[in-house]
Amino acid sequence: MATVETVNGPVDIDELGLTLIHEHFRTTDEALRFQFPHMYDEAAEWDAAMASANGVVSHGVKTVVEPSAMFLHRDAAFSKRVADESGLTVILATGVYTYEHLPQPLLNRSEDQIAEIFVHDIEHGIQGTDIKAAFIKCAADEPGVTPNIEKIHRAAARASNQSGRPIMAHSRPASGTGLDQMRIFTEEGVDPAKVQIAHTGDTDDLDYIERLLDTGCWIGMDRYGLDIFLPTEQRQKTVLTLLEKGHADRMFLSQDYCSTIDWFPPEVEEHLAATMVPNWSMTFLFEQVIPELTERAMTAEQLDQMMVTNTRRWLD
Ligand SMILES: [Zn+2]
Repeated sequence: MATVETVNGPVDIDELGLTLIHEHFRTTDEALRFQFPHMYDEAAEWDAAMASANGVVSHGVKTVVEPSAMFLHRDAAFSKRVADESGLTVILATGVYTYEHLPQPLLNRSEDQIAEIFVHDIEHGIQGTDIKAAFIKCAADEPGVTPNIEKIHRAAARASNQSGRPIMAHSRPASGTGLDQMRIFTEEGVDPAKVQIAHTGDTDDLDYIERLLDTGCWIGMDRYGLDIFLPTEQRQKTVLTLLEKGHADRMFLSQDYCSTIDWFPPEVEEHLAATMVPNWSMTFLFEQVIPELTERAMTAEQLDQMMVTNTRRWLD
C-alpha cells in the first residue's frame, strides 16, 4: 500500500480524495512575528483558517496540500489543529520560499548541507514534531534564477533524489522561470514527473506552457481568483484549451489562497482584497470556476483527473 505523509501520519494514497493542491491556512512573516507578536491577532487568524477549512469541507474537499515553507510561516502544529478541527487531511512541505534573500546560515552552507536539512523534515519530522514533510518546496520569481535561488533549487533536487519525494516549485511565468527551474532539476537528475511548476496558470502564453509540459513536469493552474496576475476568464480559456489538447493528466486546479496574509497593513489589505482580488477565496473554484468549466466542455473525468488522480500520481 502506497502512503503519503500528512499532519496525522501516513495515509493511504488512494484515500486522499478531492484535493486542493495549493492553499495556505496562514501566511505571515516569521521574523516579524517572532519579534513583534503584538502585530498579530492569533484568534482572528485561527477564525480565518477555520472559515477556509470548513468552507472547502462543505464542497467535498478531503485533502489540502499546504506548500508553506521557511519564510512563509510553515507551522506544523497550527496546520495539524486545522486538520483536526475540520476533518481535512493536510499535507506539508519542507524547503525555503524566497525570491532572492538567504540568511547567513544558508549562504554559508553547501547545496548538499541544505539538502540534508530538508531530508531531516522528510525522515524525522518538522519543527520537533513527528509530522513529516511529503514534498519539497522552492521558489523563483521576478529576480529569476539568481545564484542563491539556484542553490536552493539544487538543494531541493538533491533532497528529492535522496528521499524520492516530489518537488513543488513556485514560478513566475512572466519571467519565464519555469524552464530555467526545470533545467536545473534535470541537470541534477530529478525525474521531471516528480516536479510541479506552480503558478503556470498565471500566463495564457500557450507556447510557454507547452514548452514547459514538453519537459515532462506537472503544471499548477493554481491561482484562480488572483486577478492581479491573470483574470479568471483568461485562466479559464487557457485551461479549456489545454484540456482540449489532452493535458488533463498534467494539470492541477487550485487558488493559492491565503486565509491570512500580512504583506500590507490590515486596512490596506482589506481594501486591496476588495478591489484587486474580489473573488479570491478557498472556495472560488467550487462556486464559479468549476461550474463554468463544466458548462464549457470540461468532463467529469477531466475534473477528477486534475483534482484527485493527479495528486496521487505526483505524490506517489
Ligand atoms: Zn503558495
